[in-house]
Amino acid sequence: MPEKKMSMTTKILIWMGAGLLIGSLINAFASDVDFVQDYLVNGLFHVVGAIFISLLKMLVVPLVTFSLICGVCGLGDINKLGRVGLKAFSLFMLTTALAITLAITVATIVGPGEGFELAESTKTEFSAPEAPPLTQVIIDLVPSNPIAAYANGNMLQIIFFTILFAVCVLMIGEAGRPIAEGAERLNKVMMEVVNVVMHVAPIGVFALMAKTFSLQGLEMILPMISYFAVVALVLILHMTGTLMILLKLLGRVNPLIFLKKMRTVQIFAFSTSSSNATIPVTLRATEQRIGVDNSTASFIVPFGATINMDGTAIMQGVATVFIANVYGIDLGLSGYLTVIGMAVLASIGTAGVPGVGLIMLAMVFNQVGLPIEGIALIMGVDRLLDMMRTAVNVTGDATVTTIVARSENSISMDTFNNPQAGHIEDVHLPHAKKG
Ligand code: ASP
Repeated sequence: MPEKKMSMTTKILIWMGAGLLIGSLINAFASDVDFVQDYLVNGLFHVVGAIFISLLKMLVVPLVTFSLICGVCGLGDINKLGRVGLKAFSLFMLTTALAITLAITVATIVGPGEGFELAESTKTEFSAPEAPPLTQVIIDLVPSNPIAAYANGNMLQIIFFTILFAVCVLMIGEAGRPIAEGAERLNKVMMEVVNVVMHVAPIGVFALMAKTFSLQGLEMILPMISYFAVVALVLILHMTGTLMILLKLLGRVNPLIFLKKMRTVQIFAFSTSSSNATIPVTLRATEQRIGVDNSTASFIVPFGATINMDGTAIMQGVATVFIANVYGIDLGLSGYLTVIGMAVLASIGTAGVPGVGLIMLAMVFNQVGLPIEGIALIMGVDRLLDMMRTAVNVTGDATVTTIVARSENSISMDTFNNPQAGHIEDVHLPHAKKG
């Protein structure tokens, strides 16, 4: 009987579990053993984890660029670009608004933070970095120097410049064809690089999990359990409820198949805490596993990684109610409506990188007059929640991509329904020529 091969997702899951276990054991029993801290946690795990994140980030800019040029050139109809963009933008805003509304509703019902002992826990300080005003966010959409945009990985500027460039490749007609073909080949190469990097994912994910959990003991959740549990509950409700209902109603596809195909992406998002670093994996999954056309996915996925953060909005909603309860402040309906509006706007101008949620939260608190120091209370558990909400953020990105693709008829349902589609293939190294 042929031996059944373990799927890459299962492999990554096993290594992730092992990392979590080893990290937690180190935290419980070896947090003051110098050897373990120096050579394992800050040595091996740190180095391997950091290299893995760099490997992923290294792919983002070239992959998005080539893929987007291919996408625009393959559109055929430039009007479609505006339509797809508008649909995606509206859905991103809608899902974020639904997410934070659900968060505020559940948190108001459960009431985390009521009766919280403030004096004991406000030991840490939180000083919020300055957030850019909305006008600047709009101005910054246009790069004054595209090379700087690429060098800094500024996703919205890269998208702006690349689309403009690709549209002009189409406009010059015949002369532009070699460029479009070249981009297609380069895109193929970059997708293969993603494939290769996916092969080291089990070890990378293991190292990231082991390091995080050896530094973050689970016991720090205990004093914050009500806050933590409500955020976790709403994240799950939004991911398996709201998003899947939208997918079923607007996208008319089977949510269970979708979620199954999103597993690897969610694991990557969870272990890296970065929607941006996960772009290569999200792009690969939406195109090759879910079946969305490159012309739609190449645009919506990086766009969503930057402007769509459902999970982060959920954290902000619950955090607002929690801190308002702790400080005994009544925000009232208008306060909460402001929070919803602010959270949606804040998500547009901030990139999907680790910890950015706290900066956005500071913007929201400023607006509604909640004490910024309150953020210090929830900082301790934010690392873990960041991992969880990033998994929800990328699920939102892919959900919107799928819905828009379905409405534009740019998804292959054969690929979607094929469980084997886009499985990570073995890397075949060409043999060196003799002679
Ligand atoms: N880490 C999140 C992301 O990259 C953003 C945040 O919530 O801090 O999507």
